[in-house]
Amino acid sequence: MSEKTVFDAENSTVKRGGISVETEHIFPIIKKWLYSEKEIFLREIVSNAADAITKLRRLISLGEVRDIPDGEDDFRIDVILDAKAGTLTVRDNGIGMTEDELQKYICNIALSGALDFIEKYEGESGGGGIIGHFGLGFYSAFMVSDTVEVISKSYLGEKAVKWVCDDSGNYEMSEPDEEPERGTSVIMHINEEEKEFLASTRICDILEKYCYFLPIKIFFKDVEKEESQSKKDSDSDAESAEEKKEEPINDIHPLWQKNASDCTDDEYKEFYHRVFGDYRDPLFWIHISADYPLNFRGILYFPKLINEYESLEGQIKLYYNQVFVADNIKEIIPEHLLMLRGVLDCPELPLNVSRSYLQNSGYVTKMSQHMVKKVADKLNSLYNTEREKYEKIWDDIKTFVEYGCLRDSKFYDRVKGSVLLPLTDGRHVTIDEYLEKAKEKHKDKIYYASDKTAQAQYIAVYEKEGIEIAHLETVIDTQFITIVEHDKNIKFLRVDAEVADVLKGGDSDNENKTDDRDKTARDGATELFRRVAGDVKLTVKFEPLRDAGLPAVITEPEHTRRIDDMMKLYGIATSGANYKQNREVMLTLNTNNALINRICSSPESETSEDIARHIWSLARLTRGSLTPDEMGAFLTESYKILGLIP
Ligand code: ADP
Repeated sequence: MSEKTVFDAENSTVKRGGISVETEHIFPIIKKWLYSEKEIFLREIVSNAADAITKLRRLISLGEVRDIPDGEDDFRIDVILDAKAGTLTVRDNGIGMTEDELQKYICNIALSGALDFIEKYEGESGGGGIIGHFGLGFYSAFMVSDTVEVISKSYLGEKAVKWVCDDSGNYEMSEPDEEPERGTSVIMHINEEEKEFLASTRICDILEKYCYFLPIKIFFKDVEKEESQSKKDSDSDAESAEEKKEEPINDIHPLWQKNASDCTDDEYKEFYHRVFGDYRDPLFWIHISADYPLNFRGILYFPKLINEYESLEGQIKLYYNQVFVADNIKEIIPEHLLMLRGVLDCPELPLNVSRSYLQNSGYVTKMSQHMVKKVADKLNSLYNTEREKYEKIWDDIKTFVEYGCLRDSKFYDRVKGSVLLPLTDGRHVTIDEYLEKAKEKHKDKIYYASDKTAQAQYIAVYEKEGIEIAHLETVIDTQFITIVEHDKNIKFLRVDAEVADVLKGGDSDNENKTDDRDKTARDGATELFRRVAGDVKLTVKFEPLRDAGLPAVITEPEHTRRIDDMMKLYGIATSGANYKQNREVMLTLNTNNALINRICSSPESETSEDIARHIWSLARLTRGSLTPDEMGAFLTESYKILGLIP
């Protein structure tokens, strides 16, 4: 505590002071708790190096510094691994530090030089770019080091300074043995327990993960490897050893920083393959560049999916001024966009940021909304301008769109005009197009099939009458249609939910006679079918159907079947006797059919019972709902009937 004694008006003495932190107390805490993942130290030190270069370049662009060239190749960061010496060095040729600055910024925890710099210069040039917002990044070097050395020479040309600090925070400052070039070297003497950070592959992996798109060229050198290589070269024919051109390990111009109009489709695809390791081409992409005040850029890709479930594993990488921060930060990216793949660069968010900060940030909310709007706009523009391509990719993006609509009603409102219904015949129509066509025959009703094979007979009957059938086979489809039903006040009905009006009637002369039919004969037939159906709660109806060859159709009201589907989905038993009895099943007998008429004329006869049982089984078979036992009984029955053929 630094104290000063003051005299107050009441004539009494008051002591005031500021809390000071003893380094030996704070150091162990930094070492242990600064970051949960130790590898982040390298991101921090390399980011500081990039900051130092960005600062110098800004001074040059402001005309404050005139004698330093400002080309892309004039600046570099070197990461040098010397496993034998046990050191990892990060060197930059940026702004450097004078002795006073080193004292001020490095020797005082949290007195971040970034703040000073931003206050002085940032306002003048506008825009962000200085990475440190946090003030502790440099100390992360102590998470993996026994000793950290800093050798720095300021762009101002003052004498260079060397600072050596052990892991309890005791340091020495002196003049370095040799006067270095402009810039800073941070030499980390890696701790015995953190030896993994002396492995070349480990360092390269970390650099690739966090620094691949950093805006300054980074060169990696493994001293041991180079020594053994140069020995090999000199052992062989030194003359013929070609000068290898030094290549940076990073891409300083990531695609998202360019203007969309300057990027080609091939560039987008290539970037996608490289960043996400997916050999397939993405379906399409959205290049976002949100101006002030949002100020973030990025590219969102719609990946090609193999199946419904794979889509749940998207990947959105968050960057901060081209430095990787993290994957899939749920607080920033709306949940349904997490199924996409992409990169977002948000200089407005600090590099080190807490989850609670993000959850409560108004900026983050606006950013999310902006992305959702961009995605919706893109879908609508594809629909409006490239309908053919849109139809082709619809089956791949459908799950994403439907999920988005389920999670976010605003998204639904934006895209609903571009939602397509796949039809059983392979075509795609919008909901409005479907309804327009259905206007006369089945107003406000959309018929659909959930399983083309199991419901093939039903589909055939509808198709015969020229009715379009939507093909909605996924679980998410069935949830999605409920939103559309509420929104448009329409009904989705599975093909086996009712006997559509359009299937009724026909040219049989029985149609008129149905009213005169003997009521007792119908009651007898109803009785008979209930008996053969066993414990099912059966409602029997008589209707003249257009297709005279079809004796009977089983239907189950849409609402009970949906409840049933839900119960199955959540693993609630649907096989108990109680459950069966409460299930409403409707059997429509076709009064245009000869077999039904035969049953009605003598419902008591043994043959009628055989025929009724067989018709019931066939009707159930059409719905694909025979149990193995019932299938056995059905086969026995069928053979018996074959035996009756003279
Ligand atoms: P931050 O980067 O968040 O400000 P750090 O603890 O990482 O906090 O660094 C503290 C300060 O030390 C920086 O703001 C900067 O002024 C100075 N500094 C760190 N590394 C370098 C470097 N490579 N070159 C010049 N200055 C540096």
